Amino acid sequence: MKPALYVVLLHHPVQNRRGETVASSVTNLDIHDIARTSRTYGANNYYIVTPIIEQHAIVQRILGHWHLKRTRDYHPDRVEALDLVVLKSTLDEVLLDIEQKEGHRAEVVFTDAREFPQSIGFGAYRKELESPDRSRAVVLVLGTAWGIAPDFYRYADRILDPIYGREGKTGYNHLSVRGAAAVLLDRLFGQ
Ligand code: SAM
Repeated sequence: MKPALYVVLLHHPVQNRRGETVASSVTNLDIHDIARTSRTYGANNYYIVTPIIEQHAIVQRILGHWHLKRTRDYHPDRVEALDLVVLKSTLDEVLLDIEQKEGHRAEVVFTDAREFPQSIGFGAYRKELESPDRSRAVVLVLGTAWGIAPDFYRYADRILDPIYGREGKTGYNHLSVRGAAAVLLDRLFGQ
């Protein structure tokens, strides 16, 4: 049985260029692009996580536009993707929401451009996900700013290997979160 997939875009706690833990701003592009990627790869929901209430108002306003009947009639494909979006304040709230849907605590998978000792390769993890007896849901967590804050990695059950380009481990691999989301999901779930 294919495990349920959930995608999370984390805006806090993330780090800034000085390594301080901050809350980054939600961007319209991240909402739309990653919603479409999430829909393409069969995610049940795409969670936007920020504790900043003002940011919630901005996201609700963006999503509100796409709930209008004329918009739904005019852009059904885009609306289908944006209907996956769920707004939460913390990762804990996301995990609770998923637990209520799935009846179990999902496996939390962090992603990063850096490699960690416990990082797991895409092939190995995809094999786990495709195993016939795998039923535990997967939560793929993407960062913003300069990446997920280091002390938050205690939440991760798994950490995926970084995506590398043709230059390999020594090359440039600082993808936009939109680009990384597409590559990561395709490596794990693409046909
Ligand atoms: N402001 C930036 C932007 O335009 O997207 C945010 C960059 S954010 C740190 C990049 C996020 O995308 C990382 O937290 C990670 O989730 C993912 N990411 C970026 N490059 C990656 C790579 N090479 N391998 C895996 N994940 C990557």
